[in-house]
Amino acid sequence: MAPLLIGCVADDFTGATDVANIFARGGLKTTVLIGVPADDAQVDAEAIVIALKTRTIHPSLAVEESLNALRWLRQRHAQKYYFKYCSTFDSTHRGNIGPVTEAFLSELDSDFTIACPAFPANGRTIYKGNLFVGDVPLNESGMRNHPLTPMKDSNLIRVLAEQTKLNVSGCYHETVQRGASAITEWARAAKAEGIAIAVTDALGNDDLVKIAKAFQGLPLFTGASGLAYGLVTALGGGVANDQDVSEVRRPGLRAVISGSCSVATNGQVETMLRDHEGYRIDVDDLASGKDVVGEAVRWAKARLGRKPILIYATANPEEVKANQEKLGVEAAGTLVEDALSAITLALVENGVSELIVAGGETSGAVVKALDVKGLKIGREIAPGVPWVRTDHKTGSLALALKSGNFGNSRFFLDAWEKL
Ligand code: ADP
Repeated sequence: MAPLLIGCVADDFTGATDVANIFARGGLKTTVLIGVPADDAQVDAEAIVIALKTRTIHPSLAVEESLNALRWLRQRHAQKYYFKYCSTFDSTHRGNIGPVTEAFLSELDSDFTIACPAFPANGRTIYKGNLFVGDVPLNESGMRNHPLTPMKDSNLIRVLAEQTKLNVSGCYHETVQRGASAITEWARAAKAEGIAIAVTDALGNDDLVKIAKAFQGLPLFTGASGLAYGLVTALGGGVANDQDVSEVRRPGLRAVISGSCSVATNGQVETMLRDHEGYRIDVDDLASGKDVVGEAVRWAKARLGRKPILIYATANPEEVKANQEKLGVEAAGTLVEDALSAITLALVENGVSELIVAGGETSGAVVKALDVKGLKIGREIAPGVPWVRTDHKTGSLALALKSGNFGNSRFFLDAWEKL
Protein backbone atom coordinates (compact mmCIF):
# COMPACT_ATOMS: atom_id res chain seq x y z
CA MET A 1 0.00 0.00 0.00
CA ALA A 2 1.20 3.51 -0.83
CA PRO A 3 1.96 5.72 2.21
CA LEU A 4 -0.84 8.22 2.78
CA LEU A 5 0.64 11.65 2.13
CA ILE A 6 -2.51 13.75 2.43
CA GLY A 7 -5.72 13.08 4.34
CA CYS A 8 -8.36 15.60 3.40
CA VAL A 9 -11.84 16.33 4.74
CA ALA A 10 -14.06 18.32 2.36
CA ASP A 11 -17.18 20.13 3.58
CA ASP A 12 -19.07 19.48 0.34
CA PHE A 13 -18.99 17.09 -2.59
CA THR A 14 -18.09 19.46 -5.42
CA GLY A 15 -15.24 20.69 -3.23
CA ALA A 16 -14.12 17.10 -2.71
CA THR A 17 -13.82 16.42 -6.44
CA ASP A 18 -12.24 19.85 -6.98
CA VAL A 19 -9.43 19.27 -4.47
CA ALA A 20 -9.01 15.60 -5.46
CA ASN A 21 -8.52 16.78 -9.03
CA ILE A 22 -5.58 18.92 -7.87
CA PHE A 23 -4.00 16.05 -5.93
CA ALA A 24 -4.46 13.68 -8.90
CA ARG A 25 -3.05 16.18 -11.39
CA GLY A 26 -0.13 16.64 -9.03
CA GLY A 27 0.70 12.98 -9.60
CA LEU A 28 -0.75 11.55 -6.37
CA LYS A 29 -2.82 8.38 -6.45
CA THR A 30 -6.09 9.90 -5.26
CA THR A 31 -9.47 8.61 -4.08
CA VAL A 32 -12.64 10.40 -2.99
CA LEU A 33 -14.64 8.53 -0.36
CA ILE A 34 -18.30 9.37 0.17
CA GLY A 35 -18.62 9.78 3.92
CA VAL A 36 -16.48 8.00 6.51
CA PRO A 37 -15.87 4.35 5.60
CA ALA A 38 -15.79 1.42 8.02
CA ASP A 39 -12.79 1.32 10.35
CA ASP A 40 -11.29 -1.69 8.60
CA ALA A 41 -11.80 -0.40 5.01
CA GLN A 42 -8.66 -0.80 2.89
CA VAL A 43 -7.91 2.14 0.61
CA ASP A 44 -4.68 2.22 -1.38
CA ALA A 45 -4.03 5.89 -2.11
CA GLU A 46 -1.52 8.68 -1.54
CA ALA A 47 -4.28 11.25 -1.14
CA ILE A 48 -7.68 10.43 0.32
CA VAL A 49 -10.47 12.99 0.28
CA ILE A 50 -13.48 12.26 2.48
CA ALA A 51 -16.53 14.04 1.07
CA LEU A 52 -18.96 15.32 3.69
CA LYS A 53 -22.03 17.54 3.47
CA THR A 54 -21.30 19.67 6.50
CA ARG A 55 -21.18 23.20 5.16
CA THR A 56 -24.57 24.34 6.35
CA ILE A 57 -25.54 21.87 9.06
CA HIS A 58 -25.45 22.78 12.76
CA PRO A 59 -21.84 23.48 13.87
CA SER A 60 -21.86 20.79 16.57
CA LEU A 61 -22.90 18.19 14.01
CA ALA A 62 -20.36 19.49 11.49
CA VAL A 63 -17.61 19.19 14.10
CA GLU A 64 -18.68 15.67 15.06
CA GLU A 65 -18.83 14.40 11.45
CA SER A 66 -15.59 16.15 10.49
CA LEU A 67 -13.74 14.75 13.51
CA ASN A 68 -14.95 11.24 12.65
CA ALA A 69 -13.45 11.69 9.19
CA LEU A 70 -10.20 13.12 10.57
CA ARG A 71 -9.87 10.27 13.06
CA TRP A 72 -10.38 7.70 10.28
CA LEU A 73 -7.57 9.39 8.32
CA ARG A 74 -5.35 9.54 11.41
CA GLN A 75 -5.66 5.77 11.80
CA ARG A 76 -4.00 5.64 8.35
CA HIS A 77 -1.21 7.96 9.56
CA ALA A 78 -1.54 10.65 6.91
CA GLN A 79 1.52 12.88 6.75
CA LYS A 80 -0.60 16.02 6.35
CA TYR A 81 -4.23 16.85 7.00
CA TYR A 82 -6.27 19.23 4.89
CA PHE A 83 -9.65 20.82 5.59
CA LYS A 84 -11.17 21.82 2.25
CA TYR A 85 -13.86 24.48 2.05
CA CYS A 86 -15.10 26.74 -0.68
CA SER A 87 -12.97 29.33 -2.47
CA THR A 88 -15.69 31.85 -1.66
CA PHE A 89 -15.42 30.90 2.04
CA ASP A 90 -19.07 29.76 2.09
CA SER A 91 -20.18 29.84 5.71
CA THR A 92 -22.51 31.61 8.10
CA HIS A 93 -21.72 33.65 11.20
CA ARG A 94 -21.96 30.49 13.34
CA GLY A 95 -19.59 28.46 11.14
CA ASN A 96 -18.69 25.95 10.07
CA ILE A 97 -15.16 26.84 8.97
CA GLY A 98 -14.14 28.24 12.37
CA PRO A 99 -15.53 25.47 14.60
CA VAL A 100 -14.17 22.65 12.42
CA THR A 101 -10.71 24.26 12.16
CA GLU A 102 -10.67 24.70 15.93
CA ALA A 103 -11.63 21.06 16.52
CA PHE A 104 -9.02 19.81 14.03
CA LEU A 105 -6.24 21.84 15.67
CA SER A 106 -7.14 20.44 19.05
CA GLU A 107 -7.39 16.84 17.73
CA LEU A 108 -3.98 17.19 16.05
CA ASP A 109 -2.52 18.78 19.16
CA SER A 110 -1.42 21.79 17.13
CA ASP A 111 -1.68 25.50 17.94
CA PHE A 112 -1.44 27.06 14.49
CA THR A 113 -2.80 26.76 10.96
CA ILE A 114 -3.58 28.89 7.94
CA ALA A 115 -6.84 29.76 6.23
CA CYS A 116 -6.28 30.34 2.54
CA PRO A 117 -9.23 29.91 0.18
CA ALA A 118 -7.46 31.61 -2.76
CA PHE A 119 -8.03 29.85 -6.09
CA PRO A 120 -6.34 32.08 -8.69
CA ALA A 121 -7.27 29.80 -11.63
CA ASN A 122 -10.91 30.69 -10.88
CA GLY A 123 -10.29 34.34 -10.04
CA ARG A 124 -10.37 33.99 -6.23
CA THR A 125 -7.54 36.02 -4.72
CA ILE A 126 -6.85 37.39 -1.24
CA TYR A 127 -5.32 40.77 -0.54
CA LYS A 128 -4.98 42.27 2.96
CA GLY A 129 -7.27 39.56 4.21
CA ASN A 130 -10.01 40.50 1.72
CA LEU A 131 -11.30 37.88 -0.69
CA PHE A 132 -11.88 38.96 -4.27
CA VAL A 133 -13.99 37.13 -6.85
CA GLY A 134 -12.66 38.26 -10.21
CA ASP A 135 -12.42 42.04 -9.97
CA VAL A 136 -14.82 42.61 -7.08
CA PRO A 137 -14.70 42.01 -3.31
CA LEU A 138 -16.59 38.87 -2.19
CA ASN A 139 -19.51 40.88 -0.77
CA GLU A 140 -20.09 42.56 -4.15
CA SER A 141 -20.02 39.26 -6.08
CA GLY A 142 -23.05 37.02 -6.69
CA MET A 143 -22.19 35.35 -3.36
CA ARG A 144 -23.98 38.15 -1.54
CA ASN A 145 -27.24 36.52 -2.69
CA HIS A 146 -26.34 32.88 -2.05
CA PRO A 147 -29.45 30.96 -0.92
CA LEU A 148 -27.77 29.35 2.12
CA THR A 149 -24.46 31.12 2.78
CA PRO A 150 -24.81 34.75 1.67
CA MET A 151 -21.38 36.38 2.03
CA LYS A 152 -21.81 40.00 3.14
CA ASP A 153 -18.23 40.80 4.18
CA SER A 154 -15.08 40.32 2.09
CA ASN A 155 -12.72 40.58 5.09
CA LEU A 156 -11.97 36.98 6.01
CA ILE A 157 -10.15 37.90 9.19
CA ARG A 158 -13.38 39.44 10.46
CA VAL A 159 -15.58 36.67 9.06
CA LEU A 160 -13.48 33.94 10.64
CA ALA A 161 -13.00 35.74 13.95
CA GLU A 162 -16.79 35.69 14.32
CA GLN A 163 -16.82 31.89 13.97
CA THR A 164 -14.05 30.98 16.42
CA LYS A 165 -12.69 31.87 19.81
CA LEU A 166 -9.14 31.41 18.48
CA ASN A 167 -7.16 34.51 17.53
CA VAL A 168 -7.10 35.26 13.82
CA SER A 169 -4.70 37.52 11.96
CA GLY A 170 -3.65 38.22 8.38
CA CYS A 171 -0.35 37.38 6.70
CA TYR A 172 -0.36 40.08 4.03
CA HIS A 173 0.95 40.00 0.51
CA GLU A 174 3.99 42.17 1.24
CA THR A 175 5.21 39.30 3.43
CA VAL A 176 4.00 36.46 1.19
CA GLN A 177 5.70 37.83 -1.91
CA ARG A 178 9.06 37.84 -0.10
CA GLY A 179 8.95 34.07 0.10
CA ALA A 180 8.92 31.16 2.51
CA SER A 181 11.45 32.46 5.05
CA ALA A 182 9.69 35.85 5.38
CA ILE A 183 6.39 34.04 5.88
CA THR A 184 7.90 31.72 8.50
CA GLU A 185 9.37 34.69 10.33
CA TRP A 186 5.98 36.44 10.29
CA ALA A 187 4.33 33.26 11.63
CA ARG A 188 6.84 32.97 14.48
CA ALA A 189 6.00 36.49 15.64
CA ALA A 190 2.26 35.92 15.15
CA LYS A 191 2.32 32.72 17.22
CA ALA A 192 4.21 34.50 19.97
CA GLU A 193 1.29 36.95 20.10
CA GLY A 194 -1.18 34.10 20.46
CA ILE A 195 -2.43 33.98 16.86
CA ALA A 196 -3.77 30.53 15.99
CA ILE A 197 -5.14 31.02 12.47
CA ALA A 198 -3.50 33.13 9.76
CA VAL A 199 -5.57 34.25 6.80
CA THR A 200 -2.86 34.30 4.13
CA ASP A 201 -2.95 36.60 1.12
CA ALA A 202 -2.37 35.00 -2.28
CA LEU A 203 -2.69 36.57 -5.71
CA GLY A 204 -1.29 33.77 -7.86
CA ASN A 205 -0.20 30.14 -7.79
CA ASP A 206 3.40 31.19 -7.08
CA ASP A 207 2.20 32.73 -3.79
CA LEU A 208 0.45 29.48 -2.89
CA VAL A 209 3.65 27.52 -3.42
CA LYS A 210 5.57 29.97 -1.20
CA ILE A 211 2.89 29.64 1.50
CA ALA A 212 2.90 25.83 1.33
CA LYS A 213 6.71 25.74 1.52
CA ALA A 214 6.72 28.08 4.51
CA PHE A 215 4.17 25.97 6.38
CA GLN A 216 5.35 22.51 5.29
CA GLY A 217 5.91 21.54 8.90
CA LEU A 218 2.29 22.17 9.94
CA PRO A 219 0.09 19.11 10.39
CA LEU A 220 -3.03 20.95 9.22
CA PHE A 221 -3.75 23.08 6.15
CA THR A 222 -7.13 24.70 5.55
CA GLY A 223 -8.32 26.30 2.36
CA ALA A 224 -9.79 25.72 -1.08
CA SER A 225 -8.13 23.74 -3.86
CA GLY A 226 -5.60 26.46 -4.82
CA LEU A 227 -3.65 25.83 -1.62
CA ALA A 228 -3.68 22.12 -2.47
CA TYR A 229 -1.85 23.05 -5.68
CA GLY A 230 0.74 24.85 -3.55
CA LEU A 231 1.01 21.86 -1.24
CA VAL A 232 1.50 19.19 -3.92
CA THR A 233 4.02 21.42 -5.68
CA ALA A 234 5.91 22.00 -2.41
CA LEU A 235 5.85 18.24 -1.77
CA GLY A 236 7.55 17.75 -5.13
CA GLY A 237 4.54 16.89 -7.32
CA GLY A 238 2.92 19.21 -9.79
CA VAL A 239 3.00 17.08 -12.93
CA ALA A 240 -0.31 17.39 -14.75
CA ASN A 241 -1.69 13.90 -14.90
CA ASP A 242 -5.15 13.09 -16.23
CA GLN A 243 -5.89 9.78 -14.57
CA ASP A 244 -7.36 7.26 -16.92
CA VAL A 245 -10.86 6.27 -15.95
CA SER A 246 -11.98 5.61 -19.51
CA GLU A 247 -12.70 1.91 -19.16
CA VAL A 248 -14.60 0.40 -22.08
CA ARG A 249 -18.30 0.93 -21.59
CA ARG A 250 -21.49 1.60 -23.48
CA PRO A 251 -22.20 5.28 -24.17
CA GLY A 252 -24.85 6.34 -21.72
CA LEU A 253 -27.87 8.61 -21.70
CA ARG A 254 -27.17 12.15 -20.56
CA ALA A 255 -28.74 14.62 -18.17
CA VAL A 256 -27.92 17.83 -16.36
CA ILE A 257 -29.42 18.38 -12.88
CA SER A 258 -29.11 21.92 -11.59
CA GLY A 259 -29.96 23.13 -8.10
CA SER A 260 -27.41 25.92 -7.99
CA CYS A 261 -28.71 29.50 -8.10
CA SER A 262 -25.29 31.08 -8.55
CA VAL A 263 -24.66 33.68 -11.20
CA ALA A 264 -22.55 31.33 -13.35
CA THR A 265 -25.15 28.54 -13.17
CA ASN A 266 -27.99 30.90 -14.10
CA GLY A 267 -25.96 31.77 -17.22
CA GLN A 268 -25.23 28.10 -17.99
CA VAL A 269 -28.91 27.17 -17.69
CA GLU A 270 -29.91 30.05 -19.95
CA THR A 271 -27.31 29.08 -22.56
CA MET A 272 -28.37 25.43 -22.54
CA LEU A 273 -32.06 26.26 -22.87
CA ARG A 274 -31.42 28.06 -26.16
CA ASP A 275 -30.89 24.75 -27.88
CA HIS A 276 -31.95 22.00 -25.45
CA GLU A 277 -35.09 20.98 -23.64
CA GLY A 278 -35.38 21.75 -19.96
CA TYR A 279 -37.84 20.98 -17.16
CA ARG A 280 -38.13 23.69 -14.55
CA ILE A 281 -38.96 22.61 -10.99
CA ASP A 282 -41.79 24.77 -9.70
CA VAL A 283 -41.06 25.25 -5.99
CA ASP A 284 -44.65 26.35 -5.24
CA ASP A 285 -45.98 23.13 -6.78
CA LEU A 286 -43.43 21.12 -4.81
CA ALA A 287 -44.40 22.84 -1.58
CA SER A 288 -48.10 22.28 -2.20
CA GLY A 289 -47.49 18.54 -2.47
CA LYS A 290 -47.99 18.11 -6.22
CA ASP A 291 -46.15 15.16 -7.75
CA VAL A 292 -43.45 17.29 -9.33
CA VAL A 293 -40.94 14.46 -9.14
CA GLY A 294 -43.23 12.07 -11.01
CA GLU A 295 -44.02 14.67 -13.66
CA ALA A 296 -40.35 15.55 -14.17
CA VAL A 297 -39.42 11.88 -14.53
CA ARG A 298 -42.21 11.26 -17.07
CA TRP A 299 -41.11 14.35 -18.99
CA ALA A 300 -37.48 13.17 -18.95
CA LYS A 301 -38.17 9.55 -19.91
CA ALA A 302 -39.78 10.69 -23.14
CA ARG A 303 -36.63 12.62 -24.09
CA LEU A 304 -33.61 10.74 -22.77
CA GLY A 305 -30.80 10.13 -25.26
CA ARG A 306 -27.31 11.24 -26.11
CA LYS A 307 -28.49 14.82 -26.35
CA PRO A 308 -28.50 15.96 -22.71
CA ILE A 309 -31.72 17.09 -21.09
CA LEU A 310 -31.82 19.64 -18.30
CA ILE A 311 -33.81 19.51 -15.06
CA TYR A 312 -33.37 22.61 -12.99
CA ALA A 313 -34.56 24.54 -9.96
CA THR A 314 -32.03 27.29 -10.72
CA ALA A 315 -33.65 30.68 -10.27
CA ASN A 316 -32.71 34.32 -9.89
CA PRO A 317 -32.12 35.86 -6.43
CA GLU A 318 -35.59 37.47 -6.24
CA GLU A 319 -37.35 34.17 -6.88
CA VAL A 320 -35.12 32.32 -4.40
CA LYS A 321 -35.80 34.98 -1.78
CA ALA A 322 -39.55 34.76 -2.35
CA ASN A 323 -39.44 30.97 -1.92
CA GLN A 324 -37.38 31.31 1.24
CA GLU A 325 -39.79 33.86 2.71
CA LYS A 326 -42.68 31.47 2.09
CA LEU A 327 -40.99 28.25 3.24
CA GLY A 328 -37.94 29.17 5.32
CA VAL A 329 -34.35 29.08 4.09
CA GLU A 330 -33.48 25.55 5.15
CA ALA A 331 -36.83 24.07 4.26
CA ALA A 332 -36.75 25.54 0.73
CA GLY A 333 -33.21 24.18 0.21
CA THR A 334 -34.06 20.72 1.48
CA LEU A 335 -37.31 20.52 -0.48
CA VAL A 336 -35.49 21.24 -3.74
CA GLU A 337 -32.51 19.02 -2.91
CA ASP A 338 -34.80 16.09 -2.07
CA ALA A 339 -36.79 16.52 -5.27
CA LEU A 340 -33.67 16.72 -7.46
CA SER A 341 -32.21 13.66 -5.70
CA ALA A 342 -35.37 11.62 -6.27
CA ILE A 343 -35.47 12.67 -9.93
CA THR A 344 -31.80 11.77 -10.42
CA LEU A 345 -32.30 8.33 -8.89
CA ALA A 346 -35.18 7.66 -11.26
CA LEU A 347 -33.16 8.87 -14.24
CA VAL A 348 -30.23 6.61 -13.36
CA GLU A 349 -32.62 3.68 -12.99
CA ASN A 350 -33.87 4.54 -16.48
CA GLY A 351 -30.42 4.35 -18.08
CA VAL A 352 -28.84 7.75 -17.48
CA SER A 353 -25.16 7.13 -16.80
CA GLU A 354 -23.56 10.45 -17.73
CA LEU A 355 -24.66 13.19 -15.40
CA ILE A 356 -23.70 16.76 -14.62
CA VAL A 357 -24.92 18.04 -11.25
CA ALA A 358 -24.66 21.77 -10.57
CA GLY A 359 -24.46 23.02 -7.01
CA GLY A 360 -22.43 21.99 -3.96
CA GLU A 361 -25.33 21.19 -1.63
CA THR A 362 -27.25 19.76 -4.57
CA SER A 363 -24.36 17.45 -5.53
CA GLY A 364 -24.08 16.32 -1.92
CA ALA A 365 -27.75 15.43 -1.78
CA VAL A 366 -27.75 13.70 -5.16
CA VAL A 367 -24.57 11.65 -4.59
CA LYS A 368 -25.71 10.62 -1.10
CA ALA A 369 -29.01 9.45 -2.59
CA LEU A 370 -27.15 7.44 -5.24
CA ASP A 371 -25.56 5.56 -2.34
CA VAL A 372 -22.12 5.10 -3.90
CA LYS A 373 -18.93 4.58 -1.92
CA GLY A 374 -16.13 6.33 -3.81
CA LEU A 375 -15.23 8.44 -6.83
CA LYS A 376 -12.30 8.10 -9.23
CA ILE A 377 -10.97 11.32 -10.69
CA GLY A 378 -10.95 11.67 -14.48
CA ARG A 379 -10.42 14.46 -16.98
CA GLU A 380 -10.67 18.08 -15.92
CA ILE A 381 -13.50 19.93 -17.67
CA ALA A 382 -12.83 23.40 -16.26
CA PRO A 383 -10.72 24.63 -13.34
CA GLY A 384 -12.13 22.93 -10.25
CA VAL A 385 -14.41 20.45 -12.06
CA PRO A 386 -13.22 17.01 -13.17
CA TRP A 387 -15.30 14.17 -14.55
CA VAL A 388 -15.43 11.43 -11.95
CA ARG A 389 -16.44 7.79 -12.22
CA THR A 390 -18.28 5.70 -9.69
CA ASP A 391 -19.74 2.22 -9.41
CA HIS A 392 -23.47 2.21 -8.90
CA LYS A 393 -25.74 -0.80 -8.64
CA THR A 394 -26.99 0.01 -12.19
CA GLY A 395 -23.42 0.06 -13.56
CA SER A 396 -20.62 2.57 -13.99
CA LEU A 397 -21.63 6.25 -13.83
CA ALA A 398 -19.74 9.33 -15.05
CA LEU A 399 -20.47 12.36 -12.93
CA ALA A 400 -19.41 15.99 -13.06
CA LEU A 401 -20.12 17.80 -9.78
CA LYS A 402 -19.97 21.52 -10.50
CA SER A 403 -19.66 24.09 -7.79
CA GLY A 404 -22.11 26.94 -8.41
CA ASN A 405 -19.82 29.62 -9.70
CA PHE A 406 -17.45 27.44 -11.73
CA GLY A 407 -17.34 27.03 -15.49
CA ASN A 408 -18.11 29.30 -18.42
CA SER A 409 -21.55 29.77 -19.96
CA ARG A 410 -21.19 26.70 -22.24
CA PHE A 411 -20.13 24.35 -19.43
CA PHE A 412 -23.25 22.12 -19.65
CA LEU A 413 -22.79 21.80 -23.41
CA ASP A 414 -19.02 21.44 -23.73
CA ALA A 415 -18.32 19.17 -20.73
CA TRP A 416 -19.26 16.01 -22.68
CA GLU A 417 -16.34 16.46 -25.08
CA LYS A 418 -14.00 15.65 -22.17
CA LEU A 419 -15.68 12.34 -21.41
P1 ADP B 1 -24.04 26.50 -5.18
O1 ADP B 1 -22.97 25.51 -5.53
O2 ADP B 1 -24.36 27.46 -6.26
O3 ADP B 1 -23.75 27.13 -3.85
P2 ADP B 1 -25.90 24.74 -3.84
O4 ADP B 1 -26.51 23.51 -4.43
O5 ADP B 1 -24.77 24.55 -2.86
O6 ADP B 1 -25.40 25.64 -5.04
O7 ADP B 1 -26.96 25.63 -3.08
C1 ADP B 1 -28.15 26.03 -3.66
C2 ADP B 1 -29.27 25.82 -2.67
O8 ADP B 1 -30.41 26.52 -3.16
C3 ADP B 1 -29.67 24.36 -2.54
O9 ADP B 1 -29.98 24.05 -1.20
C4 ADP B 1 -30.93 24.27 -3.41
O10 ADP B 1 -31.82 23.23 -3.03
C5 ADP B 1 -31.54 25.63 -3.18
N1 ADP B 1 -32.43 26.05 -4.29
C6 ADP B 1 -32.32 25.73 -5.60
N2 ADP B 1 -33.28 26.29 -6.33
C7 ADP B 1 -34.04 27.00 -5.47
C8 ADP B 1 -35.19 27.81 -5.64
N3 ADP B 1 -35.75 28.00 -6.84
N4 ADP B 1 -35.71 28.41 -4.53
C9 ADP B 1 -35.13 28.22 -3.31
N5 ADP B 1 -34.05 27.47 -3.10
C10 ADP B 1 -33.50 26.86 -4.17
